[in-house]
Amino acid sequence: MKWYNNFLIVAIGVGLVVAVVVYNASQFGVVKVEPAPKKANIVSYKRPHRVVPLEPEIVYAPLWKTVEMNVSAYCPCVKCCENFADGITASGLRIKKGDKFVAAPRNYKFGTEMKIPGYNSGNVVKVEDVGGAIKGNKLDLYFDTHKEALQFGRQYLSVKVKL
Ligand SMILES: [Zn+2]
Repeated sequence: MKWYNNFLIVAIGVGLVVAVVVYNASQFGVVKVEPAPKKANIVSYKRPHRVVPLEPEIVYAPLWKTVEMNVSAYCPCVKCCENFADGITASGLRIKKGDKFVAAPRNYKFGTEMKIPGYNSGNVVKVEDVGGAIKGNKLDLYFDTHKEALQFGRQYLSVKVKL
């Protein structure tokens, strides 16, 4: 073999490589170069967790507590209220006909909302009064007349107290 025979083989080899590279390049078209993101955006690219707002935590707490209570009834008469029969509750409410409220132990603040089965159609009533005998788990429901109070008598009820 002469030296130019080797040269010919190398030349053919290089030609093939160039042909393959040119063919492959023609399959991909022009590569579009995206502009670099602005500096302000780079932070969010690098730390996406920093810009994702946190979901507010929702805490579910019971609104009403059920308390088993010894429930009696009273009216504004002297028999029921003795020397407190002035038509004004301990909270300062001037009693009107048709009012619905309860006398509760001191640990229930005035204005505490309660739902008592069979009283005010089970709708919310507020604590507006206290009583010497109203202690522990006792409640006294207000009625306009002594007759209604007697009819209610004494009942053990599941009272809902708003927390
Ligand atoms: Zn009475």
